[in-house]
Amino acid sequence: MLIQQTGIGNSTVEILTTLLGCIADDFTGATDLAGLLARSGVKVSLRIGVPNEPPKDTAAFEIIALKTRTWPVSDAVNECLSALNWLQKTGAEQFFWKYCSTFDSTAEGNIGPVAEALMAELNCEQTIYCPAFPENGRSIYMGNLFVEEHPLAESSMKDHPLTPMRDSNLMRLLKPQVTKPVGLVNRLAVARGGDVIKSSLDSLKKEGVAHVVVDAVADADLEAIAHACQNMPLITGGSALAMPLPYLYIKNGELSELSAQRVTPQTGNASIVLSGSCSAMTRQQVATYIQTTPSFKLDPIMIARDGVAAALGWLEDQPMDVVPILYATAEPEDVAAAQAELGLEMAGDTIEQALADIAVAACAKGIRRFLVAGGETSGAVTKALDISTLDVGDEIAPGVPWCFSNCGGNSIAIALKSGNFGKETFFADALKMLDEI
Ligand code: ADP
Repeated sequence: MLIQQTGIGNSTVEILTTLLGCIADDFTGATDLAGLLARSGVKVSLRIGVPNEPPKDTAAFEIIALKTRTWPVSDAVNECLSALNWLQKTGAEQFFWKYCSTFDSTAEGNIGPVAEALMAELNCEQTIYCPAFPENGRSIYMGNLFVEEHPLAESSMKDHPLTPMRDSNLMRLLKPQVTKPVGLVNRLAVARGGDVIKSSLDSLKKEGVAHVVVDAVADADLEAIAHACQNMPLITGGSALAMPLPYLYIKNGELSELSAQRVTPQTGNASIVLSGSCSAMTRQQVATYIQTTPSFKLDPIMIARDGVAAALGWLEDQPMDVVPILYATAEPEDVAAAQAELGLEMAGDTIEQALADIAVAACAKGIRRFLVAGGETSGAVTKALDISTLDVGDEIAPGVPWCFSNCGGNSIAIALKSGNFGKETFFADALKMLDEI
């Protein structure tokens, strides 16, 4: 915590200056990042969308959660620049552009264009790209991204409904997205530590390489990379790369005190699970959970035709002491069939809107704990619940914290789970954890 003098008399007050301003391209990505930063014990604030008001009551780590992952480039760039503008007003001088650890982007991806726009605004000649998340099986070797033991393009990400990933090479993915040269600091350099990484980056900078993919296969690599990049105004990558940053700020004396400011407000027990993710792990989690609880499967084609009334009626009939699940989670062939019938965007939007409507009805029914699976889905649900700020609590699984907020004057708990995160028993584990707090 930084101690700053005020101009009033001789008094000294503690003002928590924001050290790191983060922009995340989807909501689960933002809570993932928030959970990892919060492991340090320092307060993390998560804002849903760019706040309308100027910064107030800011935390050392501020995260703005956007929903820009699949937006057209110019819209995504404008939104990220306005997020940057708000974060600059918090006093932050270092910024983090967070995207998915599987580099989810469309053919007209905006990861590179946003990075270039932020770099221009920050007057920064070079940044790094490191989506590795070793604890969750994402590693980068010789510029190629792996999910567990599979190259990205051979993992289940090849069938993602919105961002199917058909190439594993990050440099090849990035090149068409940026105007300046792309380079690599490979694992052989990373294994030699922070100073070697720094000198490799400096050599690339002299050659005019603005965009550098950096290999990482273990947490120790991420620590070395964070050390090498501690003076870079903009860092880009997955959430795990940000994990070492709080400790670096402490080491450098910029953050002089770890303050565990966790908040665990009381919420009612009534809970619900909403899943719009079709990722492989979510499919297993849903299959496990529906064995023991009441469940309602949402069919995009039927909802597009008949609306969401049947699901709402079913929810209304559920007793408050069970935790129902409503899910659109489906196998790739069913997703493809719905997309063929409705069109890709319409299929996704139909489900997102349906789950958003269900969340609102659940809140009206008195449900106060929400488990949401899927990045886009989480965006739709938080927006519908009109949630603007989340306080970040303990992690249920790596990258998925319980968060606390307010909805219509009621304290609520909400966990936003990215598609492939968590174990098979995630939903039951998450609910049990909250019961035990
Ligand atoms: P993840 O985190 O797994 O990527 P997302 O919520 O980000 O999950 O993305 C899943 C997308 O797939 C959402 O837009 C959702 O509405 C859509 N979707 C979910 N179920 C179906 C389905 N049965 N058919 C077509 N699209 C679906």
